[in-house]
This record gives sequence, structure tokens and C-alpha cells, in this order.
Amino acid sequence: MDLSTEELLNRKETLKQFDNYIEDTENTLKCFVEKVGWTLDKTPIKDNLVKCPINSEHRMSPSKLEVHCQKCILKKNGYDSSHSFYPSYNLSTLLSQTVTIDEITQMHILKTAYDESNSTLNMIKECLVQDILQYFIVHYKKYILF
Ligand SMILES: [Zn+2]
Repeated sequence: MDLSTEELLNRKETLKQFDNYIEDTENTLKCFVEKVGWTLDKTPIKDNLVKCPINSEHRMSPSKLEVHCQKCILKKNGYDSSHSFYPSYNLSTLLSQTVTIDEITQMHILKTAYDESNSTLNMIKECLVQDILQYFIVHYKKYILF
């Protein structure tokens, strides 16, 4: 592709204008840096980023680490961003944030889960349901008001 002399001159002029703009901008930046007492070569370009403990390829500012870790753990375990952890339980947890399941519903949930599972355990169903219920109570007690 041959350029006309006129087009070539136009392009050279445009490049010269870009060079001038870049040089002006660099001078403005140098003046600003000198005024605030910095030097360009000693000013870190990146913040001090920390590694994600779940995936060392992830890096983020320390202030975002906790939120990132929760999302990263969920993602690692096959959940997406629509899922979240239960709020941590403590005395200030509002009752409106706590799930209450009555005993009949608990038994229904456990029986349904057992019936739907393909458990091959050689145990009497009712006995197993009691064991599961006990396990459920021990491990999830903090989330449930009986
Ligand atoms: Zn991560």
C-alpha cells in the first residue's frame, strides 16, 4: 500500500502531536511528583498485595482478603456467588436471622434425606434417624432454636 505524500505528511504530523502530548504529560507528572516530594522511581506502582490462602494465584489488598476468602472458599466447593455463609452465631444474633425448625419438621427433613439417600448401612431406620438427628443437633445446634 503506497501512501500519497500528503497522507504521509499528515501521519507524521499526527505522530509529532502525540509525541508532544506525551512529553507535556510526562513533564506535568514530574512537576506534580516533585511538588509532593516523591520520586517516580521510588513510588511503588502496586499496593502491597497479599496472597489468597485458598489459591496462591489470587492477590488482593489486605482490606479485601476476608471477603475474598469467603467467596473463594465457596467457589472452591462448587458454589457460586449467589451463595453465602450463615452469619456467625453469637449472643447478638437477631432472632429474625435464626432458623427455627420444630421437632416434627426436623424428623421429616431427616427421614426424607435418609429415604432419598442410597444408604447401605445395615441398621434399623429409626435408629439411624436418631443417630442422624443427634449428629445434626451437635453440629448445627448453633443455627437452630429448638
Ligand atoms: Zn482466592
